[in-house]
Amino acid sequence: MSPTGKRLEDNAAGKYYVTDACDGCGICFSYAIQNFMYSSDSSYYFVYQQPSDPSEEADIRKAIELCPMNCIRDDGEEVAH
Ligand code: SF4
Repeated sequence: MSPTGKRLEDNAAGKYYVTDACDGCGICFSYAIQNFMYSSDSSYYFVYQQPSDPSEEADIRKAIELCPMNCIRDDGEEVAH
């Protein structure tokens, strides 16, 4: 399955990222406030911080499930520490 959109430059290095298909709805931020951040004009969100524990990872997984644009991706690589 090919990802929806292109990885945004703003994403923190690591396996989770948001693509340019994001419409800025903010749902991800409401579920994982510690891991997502909005752009300076609030038109899109991005992964600000990769998950640092299983609880944050679960929050990101929830955001992936609920993202209406299906634009939060997991490239399957190790999270950078
Ligand atoms: S839930 Fe998806 S579409 Fe909405 S702001 Fe987050 S990444 Fe963007």
